[in-house]
Amino acid sequence: MLNPDRLFPSDPTQRAIARRLYGEVSALPIISPHGHTDPSWFAKNEAFPDPASLFVKPDHYAFRMLYSQGIPLEQLGVPRKDGGETSSDSRAIWRLLASNWHLFRGTPTSMWLTHAFETVFGVTERLSAASADRIFDQIEDCLRKPEFRPRALFERFNLEVLATTESPLDTLEHHKAIRESGWKGRVITAFRPDPVVDPEFEGFRENLAELARITGKDTATWDGYLAALADRRQYFKSFGATSTDHGHPTAATADLAPAEAAKLFDIVRRGGATAEEAELFRAQMLTEMARMSLEDGLVMQIHPGSFRNHNELVFQRFGRDKGADIPSGTEYVRALKPLLDRFGNERDLTIILFTLDEDSYARELAPLAGHYPALRVGPAWWFHDSPEGMRRYREMITETAGFYNTVGFNDDTRAFCSIPARHDVARRVDCSFLARLVAEHRMEEDEAAELAVDLAYRLAKNAYKL
Ligand SMILES: [Zn+2]
Repeated sequence: MLNPDRLFPSDPTQRAIARRLYGEVSALPIISPHGHTDPSWFAKNEAFPDPASLFVKPDHYAFRMLYSQGIPLEQLGVPRKDGGETSSDSRAIWRLLASNWHLFRGTPTSMWLTHAFETVFGVTERLSAASADRIFDQIEDCLRKPEFRPRALFERFNLEVLATTESPLDTLEHHKAIRESGWKGRVITAFRPDPVVDPEFEGFRENLAELARITGKDTATWDGYLAALADRRQYFKSFGATSTDHGHPTAATADLAPAEAAKLFDIVRRGGATAEEAELFRAQMLTEMARMSLEDGLVMQIHPGSFRNHNELVFQRFGRDKGADIPSGTEYVRALKPLLDRFGNERDLTIILFTLDEDSYARELAPLAGHYPALRVGPAWWFHDSPEGMRRYREMITETAGFYNTVGFNDDTRAFCSIPARHDVARRVDCSFLARLVAEHRMEEDEAAELAVDLAYRLAKNAYKL
């Protein structure tokens, strides 16, 4: 099913160059500096239970499409928050995916799943209602074998490093277990403080109390709160973290005087903040996090612009991360100015900016990252982590920011088996983009060959200090 020339340009000159460039990078190890796989998989190394649990239940790309066509999330095995009934019949869930496979035509999900089916599980026929049971059985047979356990797959995928993302309130017990197991796979954490820096996050006040409990700091005071965060950052660093991640609704930053910030903190910690105060607090916290990054060396990632949990009913019934996060327009130039006024010229600070608003690539992000030493542009993200999205990204970023103000690829996934597929798509699209520049005599092929390795491997490793 997988054509060796997939995603390469159809023009013969460019295709020949793209093939040669891809030949230089196809076997490179995978650097996965940002993602959301579950560290307990690698801590416990238990067999994945069945094909639906691996490919449907945890993958919001898969179930959001099925939901959009009227299939209830309960039928797809997505657990309900209220303990309400949800399907546990994995074969039935799998058949639903299979009989609706046509919905995924032309989407990256179909490319990722096809790649995983074929390269990981040896499936060579297309998923359909007719093939559903055969493919289910084939994958399930594989999953019972030791070579399909999480650690074995990690090694087979040639992962040099894989970062997960945890809340500051996480004990990192799974990371501890991985370390103590003696297994050599490098699974590291990343510090995602949204639950304790966003006053609108569910349970914010309880989260502050928990932060106090685990750090022994007094999070009822501004200084104690900042000290508790610095403390957790150190703890995360001790489990290999090299980065932080911030999923704010906007890119707003602020630089309040300490007394003003303390006053604002007092308002938000009591739980009475208005929407404006909550936004200002998040804005202040991005600048505080940048200050701490300059001190402790953690690379800062800003992932703004997603309207989280847009579907109220789905949120109430199923919770976060259920495919109901919708991009909205995101402004950076004015929003980042307070932070950049303080830290934009620091050479020892790396802030990686992401966007779901492609309008901002050429107008805002490339000019910003093409100027400020502290800034880099993160790869095409989420809905744009697709062949067309990656092409648009390169086309709109490169002429102003070059390649070296970008940071390679992030798979940003919860779906473990899609990791090799996603990196392979990125490598093919980048090689195709470079092939066009070579064919148009805008770059020599030896430069493109070096760049192909940089984009696939070296840039991520350097930017994230891995
Ligand atoms: Zn992410």
